[in-house]
Amino acid sequence: MKESLLVDKYGRQLNYLRLSVTDRCNFRCYYCMPEEGIDFAKRKDLMTFDEMLQLSTIFCNLGISKIRITGGEPFVRHGIMPFLHQLSGVEGLQEITVTSNGTLSARYQAELLSMGIRKINISLDSLDAQRFHYITRRDSFDSVYNGVFRLLDAGFDVKLNCVVADNKNIQDIIPFIELTKNYPLSVRFLEEMPFNGSDGTQVLSSWDYKKIYHYISEHYTDINRLISDANSTSVNYKISGYQGSFGIIPSFSRTFCGTCNRIRLSATGELRTCLYGPPVTNLRNLLRKGASVADTGQEILNAVALRQRDGYAAEALSNNSVNTSMSALGG
Ligand code: SAM
Ligand code: SF4
Repeated sequence: MKESLLVDKYGRQLNYLRLSVTDRCNFRCYYCMPEEGIDFAKRKDLMTFDEMLQLSTIFCNLGISKIRITGGEPFVRHGIMPFLHQLSGVEGLQEITVTSNGTLSARYQAELLSMGIRKINISLDSLDAQRFHYITRRDSFDSVYNGVFRLLDAGFDVKLNCVVADNKNIQDIIPFIELTKNYPLSVRFLEEMPFNGSDGTQVLSSWDYKKIYHYISEHYTDINRLISDANSTSVNYKISGYQGSFGIIPSFSRTFCGTCNRIRLSATGELRTCLYGPPVTNLRNLLRKGASVADTGQEILNAVALRQRDGYAAEALSNNSVNTSMSALGG
């Protein structure tokens, strides 16, 4: 892999950009935003697709080789597919992946495959329609669940993201793992994070990665640890004989910061070098002031140079009393 110029002072090379194309969503997952939604960005404040393309090109010149398209729900943004077509032609970009709530992704599956996008993460927190409704505040279980199998049938590499929380979906953990018996799915259990667009007083789930693993280990005797990519945020396992695998992501415990290779750009142009930290700069503003490619690249390099050692140090810099929604951060 090409060396990235984006290297922080702890020697971590950044080659993975998470690009949020919208802060809007057709779901209202309790852990992400309140029922009434959040103060969504005005249209004029959203980056245009042209701006996203310009910035993606600059990022790839600097060494980004993978871009994950996220949001909000990426497929609710009008014009997303033509943008992805253009993005797939950016020099140096080796892989585009998508994170979606799965309501609309199946509709676009042939087109995604035609441009070489075959890795998709679908958020699915329950295998029970009622619990799914309680979690997402939407009645779309059947279409999301059936959509997962349509994606698998079409040849996608599908990962399911499941945020684990008390009184919500503990009873789904084992059924999710059982789903990996006959399907080549990877189910990843995430710790809940505080990015829910509320006033910060909500009690977070007590299910950290240790508790999740302990619970699973009480149900299975044949759990095999898998060797994961160096930059993986999930610790991955497989039950002997099962087709798929499962992983646990310590998203709140933050045990993976030492190898983090990610940088995030929100739909309004805010650049974050850590999910837990404040935005370091706004690249949309820079472009709109007419900054050159070189100046914009330098701004990104400067931001990376200021990157904190880990999510705890980054959080200490953030004076957000209100917890920004993950939908606005670009999860
Ligand atoms: N709408 C798409 C989706 O749900 O997959 C993409 C954006 S969503 C913000 C990206 C991921 O962030 C999802 O897997 C979601 O479960 C996760 N997420 C959102 N808020 C979270 C929170 N407070 N704690 C942990 N994970 C969260
Ligand atoms: Fe929407 Fe994804 Fe947030 Fe759920 S987690 S509300 S699907 S952006």
